[in-house]
Amino acid sequence: MSLEPSVDPATDRRANYDYRSDDVDRPALVDDLERVVGCSVRADSYSRELYATDASPYEVTPIAVAFPESTADVAGILEYCAERTIPVLPRGGGTSLAGQTVNRAVVLDFTRHMNEILEVDPDERRATVQPGTILGTLNETLAAHDLKFAPDPAWGDKSAIGGAIGNNSTGAHSLKYGKTDAYIDACEVVLADGTVTEFGEVSTAEITERADPDGDLEARIYAELDRILAEDADLIEEAYPDLKRNVSGYNLDRLVAESRGNTLPGGEETGEAGTVNLARVLAGSEGTLAIVTEATVSLEPVPETKAVSLLCYPELHDAMRDVAPILEHEPAAVEVLDDVLIDLARDTAEFGPVTEILPDGTNAVLLVEFYADDVAHGREQVAGLLADRCPDADAEGEPADDAPKTDAEALALEAIEAYDDAERAKLWKLRKSGLPILLSRTTDEKHISFIEDTGIPPAKLPEFVEGFEAILEDHDTYASIYAHAGPGVLHVRPLVNTKTEIGLDQLYGIADDVTDLVVELGGSVSGEHGDGRARTQWNEKLYGDDLWETFQDLKTAFDPDWLLNPGQVVFREDDPTDLREHLRFDPDYAFETGFEPALEWENDNGFQGMVELCHGCGGCRGEQSTTGGVMCPTYRASHEEITATRGRANALRQAMSGDLEPGEAFTDEFVEEVMGLCIGCKGCAIDCPSEVDMAKLKAEVTHEYHERNGATLRDRLFAEVATLSAWGSRLAPLSNAASKLPGSRRLLEATVGIDSSRPLPTFHATTFRDWFERRGGCRVSAADADQKAVVYPDTYTNYNHPEAGKAAVRVLEAAGVHVRLPDDVGDTGRPAFSKGFLEKARETAVENVETLAPLAADGWDVVVIEPSDAVMFQSDYLDLLSDDATEMLANATYGVCEYVDSFRLDEKLAFDPDLAGETVTYHGHCHQKATRKDHHAVGVLRRAGYEVDPLDSGCCGMAGSFGYEAEHASMSDAIASILYDQVADSDGDRVVAPGASCRTQLGNRSSATSEPPTPIELLEAALE
Ligand SMILES: Cc1cc2nc3c(=O)[nH]c(=O)nc-3n(C[C@H](O)[C@H](O)[C@H](O)COP(=O)(O)OP(=O)(O)OC[C@H]3O[C@@H](n4cnc5c(N)ncnc54)[C@H](O)[C@@H]3O)c2cc1C
Ligand code: SF4
Ligand code: SF4
Repeated sequence: MSLEPSVDPATDRRANYDYRSDDVDRPALVDDLERVVGCSVRADSYSRELYATDASPYEVTPIAVAFPESTADVAGILEYCAERTIPVLPRGGGTSLAGQTVNRAVVLDFTRHMNEILEVDPDERRATVQPGTILGTLNETLAAHDLKFAPDPAWGDKSAIGGAIGNNSTGAHSLKYGKTDAYIDACEVVLADGTVTEFGEVSTAEITERADPDGDLEARIYAELDRILAEDADLIEEAYPDLKRNVSGYNLDRLVAESRGNTLPGGEETGEAGTVNLARVLAGSEGTLAIVTEATVSLEPVPETKAVSLLCYPELHDAMRDVAPILEHEPAAVEVLDDVLIDLARDTAEFGPVTEILPDGTNAVLLVEFYADDVAHGREQVAGLLADRCPDADAEGEPADDAPKTDAEALALEAIEAYDDAERAKLWKLRKSGLPILLSRTTDEKHISFIEDTGIPPAKLPEFVEGFEAILEDHDTYASIYAHAGPGVLHVRPLVNTKTEIGLDQLYGIADDVTDLVVELGGSVSGEHGDGRARTQWNEKLYGDDLWETFQDLKTAFDPDWLLNPGQVVFREDDPTDLREHLRFDPDYAFETGFEPALEWENDNGFQGMVELCHGCGGCRGEQSTTGGVMCPTYRASHEEITATRGRANALRQAMSGDLEPGEAFTDEFVEEVMGLCIGCKGCAIDCPSEVDMAKLKAEVTHEYHERNGATLRDRLFAEVATLSAWGSRLAPLSNAASKLPGSRRLLEATVGIDSSRPLPTFHATTFRDWFERRGGCRVSAADADQKAVVYPDTYTNYNHPEAGKAAVRVLEAAGVHVRLPDDVGDTGRPAFSKGFLEKARETAVENVETLAPLAADGWDVVVIEPSDAVMFQSDYLDLLSDDATEMLANATYGVCEYVDSFRLDEKLAFDPDLAGETVTYHGHCHQKATRKDHHAVGVLRRAGYEVDPLDSGCCGMAGSFGYEAEHASMSDAIASILYDQVADSDGDRVVAPGASCRTQLGNRSSATSEPPTPIELLEAALE
């Protein structure tokens, strides 16, 4: 089973992109490698820069990027590189936080092709997968068997199994499941010289037998492992911290424990002495020992149900003191959130409502989750916990007779319980609010990851937090604390500005002091994220000189020339790793916008603040079926890094900070490959944890491109769609017939570049405005009305789909609203804005504000039917104009269903009861999703009697004019196919969609007989 898009949009002959630049750094290397192997290799400037970052604060431009399709490709590349001493770096989703996924190397991206689930054996609870398989996708497949890959890193729906092995990843439920290493049965690997071999379970006797210090690479590896087991085992047992979660250094404590049959920290039994699993030595090796090309992993059953209790504390220190006693109750997860994050969450639109459930005086929470056989069992476990840790709470269940009882003082103020999915999700949402809030800073000071992953024995957490706070105070900064308190892993990101020397000193000083504290308390500098560039240098302090030497020897045995991801986990003394080197932002960093921005960027700390906002987490690389949401449709359609928001944001920053040629951002190639493929859906502005607004960046950069290079005829035509539509209506039905004349569409494609296969909009001779005037205006007088609304005749509604306007007027009238259409308004300026004609958009905005703001001041609400036009008034105008009148218009504007819902107008309407039972599939508009206004239509339709299946869908791919552009038609189709599959899977009898573009696209489905209606038309149809 492969998860590649069925057709690569770039293969369409009209596509003007191939995901790379023409500026190739080492063409001979690319030619050579492509001759040796069967896969694509890129060394152009865009590809290299796109792979220069991960989710860490580091940046290193690689030599080239290869996309292996088979083990033979990997072996060929490694052999070639070994012969020429070229470093190699394997990569999954590139979501690592410590910099272990960036290096001066040939990068192997496994997620592009080697992402197949090769076999699932439900009886044996085992799966064999390729390294680029995304964990979320694997679990989606396994769900059919009630099984899962148990380690659950928070970003598992964006990260790959190869990366999970590389980092020895785990997640919130590590108390129950441990780390990835426990689930690796066997791996096919390619060694540094290109040898393909298997690692798995083997007796220590066989290791001795195969060991030969003078033999081939494999024999030398066995020789070193044999030596370690014979000579260093006691040292390893002694030096490794007694922690359930420690991924610093190499995974040698497990090797020794398995060889001796000892129990691992956390209680995992290792079986009979004398047998070890060598594949597990690779866990946490960060691509430095061998490259995994296939992994067989064991699986766990999905728990029947879960129960959550959120314990609320007056102080973080109280919460920390409570962790050890809570662990006596054997929960599956214990997660912490501190006061800094709770306070920040209180102020956000998204998380604020969730914090309202917290009792007064809450300054820290612990989320405790139990796995349960059924709800009663869940209630019993929670009741046991509360009887012990929060006895004043009125628990919903009764504790079991043998529920643990500790002597520790009860410290929690109150507890909230949750048993059903929605309630549990609410509490988890609060826990997960931390990262997005921290990462939305646009200032030069950022909450960066470098000591964010400490692992501490849970009983020592109070001491650690106290010491940690003192260190931060000494270094004149602060941080917030959240994450996996149960196993002692705290995520802490101090605020540091690495663009200054002071910041670099803070970085080093804090990391050094925290490492001392960690060592003193018997902890580790990394509990799950790995060493990378941020922490490798502390491994010597953590493990001592002797083990550091063992690490070096192990590395040399596996990789004699130190070519596999050099500098991570361990380094050679002549080439040390320093956490202050290779930072994305350092004191030498220089950013040159090169133009005067045309939009308002004040709230984003300037244009530069927004360009630098992406922190590289890879959240925009999630699939629709696993991640859901709106971001990022072009990546979902192509699986190319350059088509993800991260790729665009990286490329733009690199174009303005000297990594690419000066002025690169305004070249034809940059527009075609980077900016032009962004469909402006605004999905990133809502789904990205940092709220990177690529649609706005695109508008700004395209505007400057037009300023420098001029605009194409087609772009100018699309920006003038309102004028063209007015003529289309005036000339209808002739205008409609003209587009059906033989050859006319091919001519249009050849001359202007408008896709000949895409039906053009139909123009109505009687516009919405004509209809309204002919019927004599509104039938509810102002005197009889409670409310008055200006229904704005947007271009699509007015000329192409007047039925939606008529429905809106009739529904509003039926609800007793006095309606009028405004005089003297043109379009909203949306097409001009999207196409980067920002001065034209601004002129239009000025005119509309002049007309509509006085009406708003006079108590008129402004109601817009086309979602992208509503959002233009509500949001984008504020980027064009910063004055009170524009803000007043923004506040007075509603989408039509938003209006009905916000004022509960449907309660004044009588609906036909016979409707009950009709199920409609609802596809919302991405701009409304981005402004959190998409739920209104669903609510209103449900109250009118429809069963509604709201799709968790992204953009339809039409995106205004994008789908009409011949070179983008295949990308548009590829995006649409994701939506079509969702519609096909829905139980709806028919589809409903508020957006004009979406309806056109949905009407293009082979099974569609016509375009779907808008929600307001369905509402009108439901009126009695
Ligand atoms: C917001 C956020 C939350 C996170 N939460 C968690 C969490 O809860 N728990 C957790 O453990 N981590 C977490 N992480 C870190 C990261 O997502 C995980 O470690 C993840 O498993 C890495 O997967 P990846 O595919 O992105 O790997 P990459 O970053 O691409 O690679 C990780 C390492 O594995 C190596 N590697 C990749 N493929 C191979 C291969 N085929 N053979 C050998 N080595 C290979 C790479 O060289 C690199 O050193 C989080 C990251 C982010 C951004
Ligand atoms: S654009 Fe947002 S989601 Fe994507 S990598 Fe950057 S920060 Fe993460
Ligand atoms: S606006 Fe849409 S297409 Fe463009 S980067 Fe953001 S999510 Fe992707």
